[in-house]
Amino acid sequence: MQQKVRDEPNGALVPGRAFLLQGKFREGSILKICVLASSSAGNSTFIGTANTHLLVDAGLSRRETAARLALIGESIDDLDGILVSHEHTDHVGSLWTVAKRREKRPPVPVYATDATFNALAKPAYEPAVEKFCAGLKLIIGDIEVQTYTTPHDAVDPIGFCFQTQGLKTGLVTDLGYMPDSIRYHLRETDFLILESNHDLEMLKVGPYPWQVKQRVMGRKGHLSNDVASEFIRQDMAPATQTIILGHLSEQNNHPELARLAAAQAIEGRGLAVKLVVALPRKQTEVFQL
Ligand SMILES: [Zn+2]
Ligand SMILES: [Zn+2]
Repeated sequence: MQQKVRDEPNGALVPGRAFLLQGKFREGSILKICVLASSSAGNSTFIGTANTHLLVDAGLSRRETAARLALIGESIDDLDGILVSHEHTDHVGSLWTVAKRREKRPPVPVYATDATFNALAKPAYEPAVEKFCAGLKLIIGDIEVQTYTTPHDAVDPIGFCFQTQGLKTGLVTDLGYMPDSIRYHLRETDFLILESNHDLEMLKVGPYPWQVKQRVMGRKGHLSNDVASEFIRQDMAPATQTIILGHLSEQNNHPELARLAAAQAIEGRGLAVKLVVALPRKQTEVFQL
């Protein structure tokens, strides 16, 4: 059967029945990944195996999360955990409504550090919370989740690496710079979702007040296109098959600028890496490894 899957220029999904087919596990594939949204308007990423279904952050409304999961053949009711990176609204705006399952089924377990949990508004129901400390490895079903501290202006911000059956995926956004500890955690990734928030020149001449510009540029702010491409040039694991640039600023970046900076870095290394730019507010295609 001819697949009617069609990509928009930057890998965004065009809704249609074909995506349900695309969302099904391909024979022989181990891992399914889809960035449901990635920007300061809302962040949420699905990562799952045939047995374990995780969401990282819940910054989209419940309705939107459910709709975008349905497009890839997944459901909130089947989630095994929601991992929280930090307490900013674009990451947890709908956490408790997304974590609530239908009818009388227990809520989806929420994984958060103690400090992050304390910084969250609490739900009207009894949530299922699994607390962890940065640096701990969590075992959720058949996925090992390595957690690590990120430099960001939140109480206890966290980045993640996911390992299953020899495949490693890194996911880190909302970081002011790239410390050696994160370079260490991101070694040997097969799949990487990395922030490429702003173009420094656009930020400098852009509409933000000076204090906000300082915050974004600061060591607890967001990663620029330049720093993301510097990481690709110097440290990205050669085995990386796919890199998704995420958390692009809608005011201070342009998808083509982010793509160009990363593409030049990839080309400079002579690597055959699939480069995808997650458009703010749009769902990416589904990746199966
Ligand atoms: Zn954010
Ligand atoms: Zn943040």
